[in-house]
Amino acid sequence: SSVWSHVEELPPDAIFLTKTLFNKDPNPAKVNLGIGAYRTEEGNPYILKVVRKVEREILDDVKLDKEYAPICGEPQYVHACQSVIFGKDAPVLKEKRAAGAQSLSGTGALRVLCEFLKVNFANSKVYLSKPTWGNHTKILLKSHLEEGTYRYWNAKGRNLDIDGMLEDLSKARPGDIVLLHACAHNPTGVDPTLDQWKQIASLLKKNKLIPFFDTAYQGFATGDLDRDAAAIRLFEKEGFDFVVSQSFAKNMGLYSERAGCATVVSQDPKLVSACQSQLEAVIRPMYSNPPRYGAEIVKRVISSPENFKLWKEEMTYMSGRIIKMRQLLRQHLEALKTPGTWNHITDQIGMFSFTGLTGIKINTSSFFFNTASQVDVMISKHHIYMLKNGRISMAGVTTKNVEYLARAMDDVVK
Ligand code: PMP
Repeated sequence: SSVWSHVEELPPDAIFLTKTLFNKDPNPAKVNLGIGAYRTEEGNPYILKVVRKVEREILDDVKLDKEYAPICGEPQYVHACQSVIFGKDAPVLKEKRAAGAQSLSGTGALRVLCEFLKVNFANSKVYLSKPTWGNHTKILLKSHLEEGTYRYWNAKGRNLDIDGMLEDLSKARPGDIVLLHACAHNPTGVDPTLDQWKQIASLLKKNKLIPFFDTAYQGFATGDLDRDAAAIRLFEKEGFDFVVSQSFAKNMGLYSERAGCATVVSQDPKLVSACQSQLEAVIRPMYSNPPRYGAEIVKRVISSPENFKLWKEEMTYMSGRIIKMRQLLRQHLEALKTPGTWNHITDQIGMFSFTGLTGIKINTSSFFFNTASQVDVMISKHHIYMLKNGRISMAGVTTKNVEYLARAMDDVVK
């Protein structure tokens, strides 16, 4: 027998599986609403014009070589990333109160920060929202951090269960960590209001909990980078020590370039270099140093006022198209008189909608067994690919497929 004969085959990743199944499906009406990637009105991937512009500049820049980047990436890149989070003239940057490292997009930042936390807060639990992005749980497991959960989604009202959230977090111990989606919560599309953020901040402060912000959709929630950073900036002003994982996959359309940043904010500037050295110690044996190309694009977009303006215009365009699709989908569902209420489609923000369709198999007939869930029927009968939990990526909806989508939803709900 082979040396590999005891190797157990594991199930494929749920989100990437939708893409594989979609690609294999020969039906021309098929729609992929599984993975969260922006699509144009024609249903195609989109490369931002400002990204193309700086890519041409990079190619022509004779001073750029292929030397290694520093372990934590170029400091100018890290600073540019942090200026997007906190604002260009933020005191936290002026006073050099943030350590940071270039990361392999948002996932890499989460993983590096979890390793950092495991080394320095070995016995802390990390609290995740219920539900959350599936990879959060896996990253905690790999980093050997204990997972806690807090209530978040109120299925009945299809809104935030703020009381449940505060009650669950009030049971956390001092030094525990709370992972918060900075905006455009994945998968629910439901964010706390500014007042609710203030309640959350005051509880975390009172109970000495450490905030861990995941910001993967800044600019995608409202189209405005500053508004989408309001929660993080509030926590910064409130004087927290905290960490931030940041991704440019969505807001700059750099999915495969893997450009992101891990930030550690310290109210005491004297502790920044210790934190920086710990980030280095995590990264060096993990992948040694980051790729430079994606980071070069991000740096050039952020640090030129002209490019920054072009970027913001395209972000407004992308998020505007998504908001438009939410309105159209709701209109169609209401016109079809699809059972239920559909205001949550337009109330939710960001890339995803938590439709309320269920992946749980229901026995719909007393005579014969119907074991297909609503989501199963969306996929098998209508060729619309989505996640088992009812999440659809609004970015994959276009004026051409929105009516087809609404009719399919109507069919599985009725
Ligand atoms: N956090 C959340 C909540 C996300 O939805 C994503 C992207 N799906 C990420 C982090 C990171 O993605 P990436 O590694 O592609 O930047």
